[in-house]
Amino acid sequence: MSHRRDFIKTAALGTLGLSTVYSCKQAANEPSGTPVPVSSLTGKVPLVISTWNFGLAANEVAWEVLMSGGSGLDAVEAGVRVPEGDPKERSVGYGGLPDREGNVTLDACIMDKNSDCGAVSFIQGIKHPISVARKVLEDTPHVMLSGKGALDFALSKGFVKENLLTPESEKDWKAWLEKSKYNPVINIENHDTISMLILDSSGDLWGACTTSGMAWKMHGRVGDSPIIGAGLFLDNEVGAAAATGLGEAIIRTAGAAMVVELMRHGRSPLEACKEVVDRIHKKHVGHPDMEYLQTGFIAVNKQGDYAGYSLRSGFNYAVCDNTEKGNRLEDAPFKMAWSS
Ligand code: ASP
Repeated sequence: MSHRRDFIKTAALGTLGLSTVYSCKQAANEPSGTPVPVSSLTGKVPLVISTWNFGLAANEVAWEVLMSGGSGLDAVEAGVRVPEGDPKERSVGYGGLPDREGNVTLDACIMDKNSDCGAVSFIQGIKHPISVARKVLEDTPHVMLSGKGALDFALSKGFVKENLLTPESEKDWKAWLEKSKYNPVINIENHDTISMLILDSSGDLWGACTTSGMAWKMHGRVGDSPIIGAGLFLDNEVGAAAATGLGEAIIRTAGAAMVVELMRHGRSPLEACKEVVDRIHKKHVGHPDMEYLQTGFIAVNKQGDYAGYSLRSGFNYAVCDNTEKGNRLEDAPFKMAWSS
């Protein structure tokens, strides 16, 4: 991550009607001295927000796409491809931890300002499931393709089948096999997802979500992440929301759709995320999942207000907007500590 103060000045800025905008590479704590930029963008847009700390690198790429005139769909796709392609990220794409049988199975979805969406679930051997999801959106009459059908479709579109199980993930899987204890402990090591939401400079919303899902899951298990309305949802009249955490709990409560619906009824992004997390908590008191339940949401409304909120401590998200704060990580407020 670069921490230099840097302004993007490209030909595209003219296209966007900008004189100067902040680069997403800025860090809030850098020495100042650079004049406040003049921007013809009003308010807080564009705004890019993504889950977890790998969102910082993803935001940078998404921001660059936006600044060079790319669409919000181009930007969310390019952004989440960063952790998908990074073998060091063990919860998304290439290098993701496998299921209990050693298969890396991936889920992803993408949604545009017109409510068109595409998704793939339980796809294997394709490094960038988000790009296949985009092809589903653009080139098919369907919303989701799954398993072998999704793989066949990807191959027909020129995607290349690869082994996604890195030596590191294979080693961890073999270590897990020694006990083979099905204990889907959720923490930032083995159970997270990148979701990205964008409010572009025209005030339109876009979203993407991609994951390798829960480590050591049953073969065939699909979580919330590729499910429009659970892992990701937006309504361009209202706002957008995305989830991370235990997919089963998020599906049970139609998490992301509920956050958007609450914003429609006047809740702020923070109030909406909190209300859904409270609901998830209430429904899981006494449930076997409660011991390891974590769930977090990010949300943005049409006014450019954004928030994140989680059930348990430890959730953070990356935000990049057109302010001098630049690309930064924010800790989400949470309901309870892990010991509760
Ligand atoms: N929501 C994802 C799933 O359940 C994983 C995560 O975000 O931790 O598959």
